[in-house]
Amino acid sequence: MSGAPFIGVLALQGDVREHVGALTRLGADSAPVRALEQLDACDGLVIPGGESTTMSRLARIDGWFEPLRSLRAAGVPMFGSCAGMIMLADQVLDARPDQETVGGLDVVVRRNAFGRQVDSFEMDVDMPVLGERPFHAVFIRAPWVESVGQGVEVLAEISAGERAGTIVAVRQGPVLATSFHPELTPDDRVHRYFVDMVESRGERSRGSA
Ligand code: GLN
Repeated sequence: MSGAPFIGVLALQGDVREHVGALTRLGADSAPVRALEQLDACDGLVIPGGESTTMSRLARIDGWFEPLRSLRAAGVPMFGSCAGMIMLADQVLDARPDQETVGGLDVVVRRNAFGRQVDSFEMDVDMPVLGERPFHAVFIRAPWVESVGQGVEVLAEISAGERAGTIVAVRQGPVLATSFHPELTPDDRVHRYFVDMVESRGERSRGSA
């Protein structure tokens, strides 16, 4: 990686522009990824929030799953928010039986888990990797992480109320995922954390070259 890393935002569907905006503000080179050929240039990839059933269907029709899995297998950092988290999960509950995912994150997630009455809500969550100040998290028909495999680091849980203990941010090596939408708030710390993941991988591979 020379200069700013290129972090693509998968643009099959969803809130692509907001992620590109956050990454660009942080000094990364970022653009929507609409063609398979663009994946080769990605030092990191964001899978945005949106609607995972639609995203999965479009990915299948256009043949994205294998190239995305190869990119992940190559260790290129990926960050999924909300529907993007679902796309990265190894197992999804309350999905259509044919809903395919990229996988790579050894978690079970439940779609639309917070229930109909609370389709959308905002809440401060503690995310110690970002520092002491809580992160103001926006949840929109959000999934939660129902269980995690070994090797998955829990980065944030809901800390109070009825849903206390619910896991809403995880990391497994180069794969990061949040139930909420950091791209919809001005607080760039989650994106900063992801850019750091991308940059530190770049430094490692330069070091070993
Ligand atoms: N409920 C959506 C899904 O299953 C995710 C919602 C979102 O990304 N805001 O894909």
